[in-house]
Amino acid sequence: MNPSHYCVVITDCDHGSIEEEKREFSPTGAELILAQVREEEDLIRACREADGLINQYALLTRKVFEGLPKCKVVSRYGVGVDSIDLKAATDLGIIVANVPDYCIDEVSNQTIAMILSLIRKTAFFDQKVKSNQWDFHLGIPMYRLNGKTLGLIGSGRIGLEVAKKISAFGVKVIAFDPYLQKTEEGIELTDFDTVLKTSDVISIHCPLNESTHHLMGERAFQKMEKKPILINTSRGPIVDEKALIQALVEGRVSGAGLDVIEKEPPDSQNPLLKMENVILSPHVGFYSVESISELKRRTAENVAKVLMGKLPRSVVNRDVIGKTRAPIPA
Ligand code: NAD
Repeated sequence: MNPSHYCVVITDCDHGSIEEEKREFSPTGAELILAQVREEEDLIRACREADGLINQYALLTRKVFEGLPKCKVVSRYGVGVDSIDLKAATDLGIIVANVPDYCIDEVSNQTIAMILSLIRKTAFFDQKVKSNQWDFHLGIPMYRLNGKTLGLIGSGRIGLEVAKKISAFGVKVIAFDPYLQKTEEGIELTDFDTVLKTSDVISIHCPLNESTHHLMGERAFQKMEKKPILINTSRGPIVDEKALIQALVEGRVSGAGLDVIEKEPPDSQNPLLKMENVILSPHVGFYSVESISELKRRTAENVAKVLMGKLPRSVVNRDVIGKTRAPIPA
């Protein structure tokens, strides 16, 4: 590959500046173009000469890939790659890369913040004091966090970081994760029902897929014996919202911290908006100035690495290795 002719196109993105991305390409000499296109024909026209693509929402279909004879790599801003036809990319030797771990610190902190806020009722008291009610009795009863049990649903990157942080509060951590045989020291792997029965706080950190859709539904809420707090910073539809609202009304769940909900943003009549034991945030878990900067830098770095004859840090379509269009030594 001749560095002086490299061209990389950002198909589309929802941030203003691409200076951070540009810096990653300086060792390669690649020209970086921001196209802001989403339609198939426009994508083919804008990216025809591209050696690599950076992508956010634009759908990269087989037809698009077939129209891009030079394209060797696509890097997606973030984790999900549903916008990309992985099979077509693999068939054509195009590497698909992502950045799965740019916001672990932020999402785990969002989770811990929600747990602490619900345990110490900080959001509740803030509203009371600001409406002229200076009376701690309004929050009775409140319970000590030390000695309680946190049950994780999913013990991957974010779940493990939550476990590490919450252990400083003297909390025991158990986890349900059907894909793991063992996990970090100090976390007890167990079955789903045991997490439901024995946890004081349940926190969801598994992906959304067919088997986790409404995993937290009526049947699960019936099994919760300790009136736990439920935290969801993963994906809204893992929780059956109607069933959660019912469990909150009946007191089977004592509170909920939700960064994600089934319909984002919620309808104005959503009962969760009126519940004092529910705290909500607008799917902000991923965000900090630093996490976005890291995301931009590492998305670009994936492409720059391929232009320099190396594999990116996170290849999604691993079947492509060994038959890549880019000359990468095996
Ligand atoms: P990860 O892939 O590292 O971990 C997910 C874990 O869930 C894995 O260990 C997997 O084995 C486990 N799992 C899969 N199916 C399961 C099931 N049915 N029951 C229990 N466990 C199951 O992912 P991560 O980086 O820890 O991220 C977790 C989730 O956080 C992501 O899927 C994403 O939906 C969400 N997320 C949210 C935000 C936000 O802004 N709120 C940001 C980033 C990620």
